[in-house]
Amino acid sequence: MTDLRCKLLVIGAGPGGYVCAIRAGQLGVDTIIVERASLGGTCLNIGCIPSKALIHAADEFSKVAAAASASAHLGISAPGASIDLKATIDWKDAIVHRLTTGVGALLKKAGVRVVKGNAEFLDGKTVELEFEGNRQRIVAETIVIATGAEPVELPFLPFGGPVMSSTTALSRQTVPQQLVVVGGGYIGLEIGTVFRKLGASVTIVEAASRILPQYDAELTKPLLQRLKTLGIDVKAECRAQGLQSDGKGLVITLKDGDEQVLPADAVLVTVGRRPVTQGFGLEGLKLTMSGPFVEIDAMCRTSMRGVFAIGDVTGEPMLAHRAMAQGEMVAEIVAGKKRIWDKVAIPAICFTDPELVTVGQSPDEAKNAGIETKIGTFPFRGNGRAMTLERDDGFVRIVARADNHLVLGIQALGQGVAELASAFGLALEMGARLEDIAATIHAHPSLGEAVQEAALSGLGHAIHF
Ligand SMILES: Cc1cc2nc3c(=O)[nH]c(=O)nc-3n(C[C@H](O)[C@H](O)[C@H](O)COP(=O)(O)OP(=O)(O)OC[C@H]3O[C@@H](n4cnc5c(N)ncnc54)[C@H](O)[C@@H]3O)c2cc1C
Repeated sequence: MTDLRCKLLVIGAGPGGYVCAIRAGQLGVDTIIVERASLGGTCLNIGCIPSKALIHAADEFSKVAAAASASAHLGISAPGASIDLKATIDWKDAIVHRLTTGVGALLKKAGVRVVKGNAEFLDGKTVELEFEGNRQRIVAETIVIATGAEPVELPFLPFGGPVMSSTTALSRQTVPQQLVVVGGGYIGLEIGTVFRKLGASVTIVEAASRILPQYDAELTKPLLQRLKTLGIDVKAECRAQGLQSDGKGLVITLKDGDEQVLPADAVLVTVGRRPVTQGFGLEGLKLTMSGPFVEIDAMCRTSMRGVFAIGDVTGEPMLAHRAMAQGEMVAEIVAGKKRIWDKVAIPAICFTDPELVTVGQSPDEAKNAGIETKIGTFPFRGNGRAMTLERDDGFVRIVARADNHLVLGIQALGQGVAELASAFGLALEMGARLEDIAATIHAHPSLGEAVQEAALSGLGHAIHF
């Protein structure tokens, strides 16, 4: 048994944990980070980056496939298109490798000690772990729990064989013929669309009345339409029951209670993610929980002195950039700086086709909060850049207070709008009013012009629509 001591111990090297450790190291805090799998956590290894890599590859393939078909247009034609998914996965893995190696280098540069292994709590200051037969004890003044989340498994559809989690799906080396996705949240839609564009027949089964039920119907309706155009069958208000006895189909219950069998050689279950709070002695600390999540205050402190928690383990929205922002804040608090969680909004992007971005309040959320609003919208069919990209579906919508025009929320649906998320977030954090966005010169031709036009529309005088 060897003993290590440090001022700050971070458990988990996902975006929350590694950002916390790097910032702490930069500030001169003696820091150790423990990771039982790979540096980069879910996001870099089996989440954000792998999924976006495959979305890009599938988009490229579908463009080439379209050019090879009789409907080739833009004057482009290409001989028969084919995909070697194993090579695509190798390319994706190379990106993951580059990024995770980079995280290792950044931790080293910041003077952070990286320890491999599964940290188990002995008490609020001590963890023990074993790596390659060597047991180590780490004693720390402060501990940050950044253990993330994992896919929820359905008891009647356990992962294995044809039943895939997002992790398995993102490393699959063959395109299934008939894929059924259980769960119409953003992860299921993103991966389902990938396999559809690679040639699979895809059905999405959703228990709620529509896909992405947490977003308003004005945003999700055009997306549903596009899924239909792509040939994806969406079955809402239907519930998966389990595999058929021969394993070649998924039994579902329809809205009216009837049963149906959906032929499937692969089933992807994306019904949610749950925080990683069990199996490493966390229960022994008897922290106050908020449902399944570790409860935190505005400084990410748990109910135990000297123990912080950040990222997915602390609740929604379970997004990498929230985890990173919390990680950075906690490192500064540990280093003695005065910090508190004072973010106005956390953007969320669904990398669906088309992409969907939301920041701040939707019209309904503002209304339910008792705020009188002005809503400005601008459709991409009035935007030249969208036309040149052949994607003029979707729109930008701005929600502002009716009295002083303070922007409360911005939402957009459209191909390429993911890159507008930063501008939306900045507008909210800077307390922009409709007049500020309307008076800002937006470069032409760009999708961003639709944001300026949406602000003008909120003020009652859009120019190009
Ligand atoms: C398919 C998919 C796509 C996604 N796409 C996006 C996206 O586009 N944008 C976005 O913002 N978010 C996305 N997410 C969510 C994002 O990945 C998470 O919000 C983010 O990774 C959370 O970071 P974290 O640091 O809290 O935890 P994680 O990234 O989950 O990292 C936690 C780490 O802790 C380690 N760990 C756990 N317990 C222990 C222990 N006892 N000892 C040592 N190590 C331990 C784990 O091995 C893991 O590496 C996606 C997720 C998935 C699954």
